[in-house]
Amino acid sequence: MSKDYRPMWASLGLDLDAHDALLAFLGPYYAETFLSQDNRPEGMKYFDFVMSEVHGLRIEELLAAKDEGRKVIATFCTYVPEELVLAVDGVMVGLCAGASFAPELAEAVVPRTLCPLIKGFFGFALGRVCPYLAASDLVVGENTCDGKKKAWEIYGDMSDRMVTLDLPQTRSIAGRALLRSEYVTFARRLEEATGKRLTVEALVRATAVVNRKRDALARLARLRAADPAPISGLDGLLINQIAFYDDPVRFTTQVDALCDELEARVAAGEGVAARGAPRVLVSGCPMAVPNWKVPAIVERAGAVIVGEESCVGERGMRNTVDASADTLDGLVDALVDRYLGIDCAIFTPNGSRLDHIRGMHDAYRADGVLHYGLQFCQPYLMEAGPVEHALEKTGIPTLMVETDYGTEDVGQLQTRIEAFLERLRD
Ligand code: SF4
Ligand code: SF4
Repeated sequence: MSKDYRPMWASLGLDLDAHDALLAFLGPYYAETFLSQDNRPEGMKYFDFVMSEVHGLRIEELLAAKDEGRKVIATFCTYVPEELVLAVDGVMVGLCAGASFAPELAEAVVPRTLCPLIKGFFGFALGRVCPYLAASDLVVGENTCDGKKKAWEIYGDMSDRMVTLDLPQTRSIAGRALLRSEYVTFARRLEEATGKRLTVEALVRATAVVNRKRDALARLARLRAADPAPISGLDGLLINQIAFYDDPVRFTTQVDALCDELEARVAAGEGVAARGAPRVLVSGCPMAVPNWKVPAIVERAGAVIVGEESCVGERGMRNTVDASADTLDGLVDALVDRYLGIDCAIFTPNGSRLDHIRGMHDAYRADGVLHYGLQFCQPYLMEAGPVEHALEKTGIPTLMVETDYGTEDVGQLQTRIEAFLERLRD
């Protein structure tokens, strides 16, 4: 970090000793996972910098924005439209949930047998080590899986900043109407919190910002189709993770600059793994910072990950919003059209997810699919079996992995992943 941020963290009410312990773990873990990779693109330096300051400079920026009267809106799901937040001059950020922290505090309020992502959120919140949560004016939860529905009831009793969106579980006419009405209610709540009115002009402008971000990420995704891949899967994932924290305009500029460099690499036939190295598509539960365990195992074993069918990845970022309407109603309809296409496993039926996995497998020239399920995540673990069956039936090798944030299963995962890669090499 570039300076001593402890006074800032103290002002946010963080537990400084616990937070120091978290950073003391994160710094070396990041260096060992990312900085040790060979032949990284120069453009990754920016993202390394962002990560080195993710609890420092970025939080300082959020506090400066608050001093200017802007509101910080913390979210947990890709169904929360950043367009609405930006349109009322808010700043949207993700919440810390990608590691197990203070599990004993979390398990005092939620069951031990809960998905690590939700338990991680409670650990970071109750352990007072998430500066994004501490800096936020509103925390937006959503009724998606059962774990999150109940989590927001429990956290709602602890916080007066909680707003919960009710999300449909089907793409029926009634489901669409529910999402639309929830977005309208959310927009009103944002107006109240920010004191700004949502206007057509502001929503068109905000939509353009988010569309450009998604376009840049789609460009990055397409470049990973090259063989050899011009960037590692770890770095691809990292950029998708940073998309939830960084300023969207600056982030887009940096992703585009990186893509320029990657285009030159592709033209020169330069890559991060040997040509012909096994190419893996990862599909399943979102991986939040600093959840890098499985991708690191895959790539250390000599394979390269060429895409993420995940909410921290293409599922969450694909498709832009049509901003051509000239009324708020029309623009909100376009938002609903775009967001209802996110094929989260909470939806039933959810056939488009399988279509997307197949499409990504072909587009990014993957040799196989690794289905990543977080322990106790019913929606994705339940979908994993049918997905594996359908992919294998059409000749796509698939490995199902179920894991948590711990390191106890690393050896077992290595063995299974290495055997899977051998299968892909045959
Ligand atoms: S997997 Fe579902 S619940 Fe999780 S972030 Fe994505 S859309 Fe939201
Ligand atoms: S990983 Fe699964 S259980 Fe956990 S929050 Fe997401 S959908 Fe819910």
